[in-house]
Amino acid sequence: MSIIHLDATKCVRSLSVDSVCKKCEVVCPTSAIVIGANPLPSINLSLCVACGACNGVCPTESFGFEDFSVTDFFFDYLEEEDSLISCKKNVPCIAALSVEHLVSMAVLKKEMILDVGHCDTCEIASTCYKQILKNEEEASYILEAMESDVEIKLQKVSYEKTEKTDRRGFLSAINLKTFAKTKHDFENEVERATDELTEHTLAKTDIALLKKKKLPQKRKLFFTAIKRVEKPSQYHVVESDAISFTSQKLMDKDLCTACQMCYRVCPTGALTSDIKNSKIDFDPFMCIKCNICHDVCAPNALTKSASYNIKEFFEPSVQSLIAFNVKRCNECNVIFSTNSKDKLCYRCKCEEEEARELWGIEDDE
Ligand code: SF4
Ligand code: SF4
Repeated sequence: MSIIHLDATKCVRSLSVDSVCKKCEVVCPTSAIVIGANPLPSINLSLCVACGACNGVCPTESFGFEDFSVTDFFFDYLEEEDSLISCKKNVPCIAALSVEHLVSMAVLKKEMILDVGHCDTCEIASTCYKQILKNEEEASYILEAMESDVEIKLQKVSYEKTEKTDRRGFLSAINLKTFAKTKHDFENEVERATDELTEHTLAKTDIALLKKKKLPQKRKLFFTAIKRVEKPSQYHVVESDAISFTSQKLMDKDLCTACQMCYRVCPTGALTSDIKNSKIDFDPFMCIKCNICHDVCAPNALTKSASYNIKEFFEPSVQSLIAFNVKRCNECNVIFSTNSKDKLCYRCKCEEEEARELWGIEDDE
């Protein structure tokens, strides 16, 4: 296994060609992740420094690392007496931790110190330091909205530990430009890596996995942590743009075509229907703000609400977004859902529209 691994069945780009997610590519400080002709992220292993920032921003936690698991770190950190998180001590880079991880660990630990004492001289700070500040700001905003008295402190602690011998250790200890010359382990890594992009594809057997609805570990940890937190005196409504990991939805019933795409692609099951496809329900508890439902909604009927009620953390509720009429198609006899007075199913309607266009036939009405 290489130092970084992408689970293609988790990446939302596997779910639809309409996905525009590029969060991992944008945050990668060494441009090791490329999203180009191949729909899935490709990785240049010779450039990857295993900082973990890609997994920190990925809504579905699609990346795995050889020597760091953020879930294992979560539990180790809670057991430690020290509340310091430092790239010289216990994480490859603080950007490897998502906002959900920061909030969950902070409320359970009751205090948290993020050591940014090395960021000034770090070669990967270009994107990672900004991401750390962004995550800390968002996590603190959420803690405040939850009326938590726990504070996340950014401090220039400059915790030092130099006996690390793995690749990440070299990155922490010395300048990126020089570590290739000085560490034997790193040479081995370079031998294993090539300048070529490792491309990802899906096998036939992966299709079943794609359809399986699953919540990322960080969301499970988040809600486990929230259950242990006292409810605020009142539920505050916060700006949706200030929360990167969940959302509330609105549906424009006039625009929705009942195409069923949004809940079919939703990777977590936040959007659902019933066996007859007669409705769309939404559970903010399950939403990871991956955006794929919006990317596939051609008429933009499904939108994000401008606000988010913190109540959803403490008392999750399933909301009804729209109900459909379930009919039998006049043409092909299949049962279909519709949001209009249509007598034809979506496919027959498209075929009829194409035929009219081809032969220049006017609409009946
Ligand atoms: S951030 Fe995650 S979901 Fe988005 S493109 Fe990268 S791997 Fe895929
Ligand atoms: S509701 Fe939309 S944004 Fe939320 S998890 Fe499902 S597909 Fe992603």
